[in-house]
Amino acid sequence: MARLFHYKIINNAFGDPCVLIQLLREKRALLLDVGDIRRIPFNEIIKVSDIFVTHTHIDHFIGFDQVLRAILRRHEPLRIYGPENIIECVHGKLRGYTWNLVADYPLQIEAYAIKNNKEIAFAKFVASKGFKIEDMGILQLKNNIILNEPLFKVKTIVLSHGIPVIAYSIEEDFHININKVELERAGFQIGPWLGELKKLIKIYYNYDPIKFLKPKRKISCIKVDTPKGKLNIEELFPILKITKGEKISYVMDIAPTEDNIKKIVQFVKDSDILFCEAYFLNRDKDRAIERNHLTAKITGEIAKKANVGEIRILHISPKYIENPQEVYSEVELSRKGILAQS
Ligand SMILES: [Zn+2]
Ligand SMILES: [Zn+2]
Repeated sequence: MARLFHYKIINNAFGDPCVLIQLLREKRALLLDVGDIRRIPFNEIIKVSDIFVTHTHIDHFIGFDQVLRAILRRHEPLRIYGPENIIECVHGKLRGYTWNLVADYPLQIEAYAIKNNKEIAFAKFVASKGFKIEDMGILQLKNNIILNEPLFKVKTIVLSHGIPVIAYSIEEDFHININKVELERAGFQIGPWLGELKKLIKIYYNYDPIKFLKPKRKISCIKVDTPKGKLNIEELFPILKITKGEKISYVMDIAPTEDNIKKIVQFVKDSDILFCEAYFLNRDKDRAIERNHLTAKITGEIAKKANVGEIRILHISPKYIENPQEVYSEVELSRKGILAQS
């Protein structure tokens, strides 16, 4: 199965947490947190269209300048999402430089501050205006969805880390595969046209287990360019096989409170991959409470209760640099329910 999301974990668990998600055939990438990104090649940074920041502690935000440096002459805008202070923080970064030579640069930065589960504040910074802040007002959030595109949607939840922190999930509604046997039987050949076909389906159809693909709204017949000429899209349905879409969740720097844990379990439910912190060991639980971080044991419990497919630990205290294995095994044992409850 060709997956839509291809992810790269940028640093080891003692470096800054950051995940780059490349979208299949889209020449476009997403970033989850933007800490130390020196290991991302320039030609990949310039494809970043959206950055999802959990909070603006330096280990999650210092790489913003490097993204800015790479995309300064770009036509496509950069969108950055984060907690309630993200607009101020982006503004602060932009004010740290002199912008008298960018009047003919097309770049536009859009910053979205997730204030709560209902509202987002929106501001724009345009190169041609010297990146002065433009207040674009408040947007309403529906079903926690901050980005809704044909190929995927991004949902958020506001949690606490002593300060507000945002967790993200990136989901595909459904996944379209090509049934090779049917493809051959119909006399078609594999080619880029199949990518176009999939995209059109995501734009115009919803998946319905009974009716298969159901138009999102009343549409007149859509034609697709195929190796056999232009065909009506619905004639091509027999070569498609629909499977469950992928869900990726990203949860960093969370106070180990019952309220946070309950919300996370619900939010990351059935994720194929959960990227999470496991900052302290359970034996240092007091420290975890003091520093507003999860313990490896709690992270394992979350993965178990939420039935996640795979868990990747991205953020561990430097305290355990000699024995990270202890952290990973605490997560695993807790996930299997082997560790005693405390
Ligand atoms: Zn951190
Ligand atoms: Zn933090």
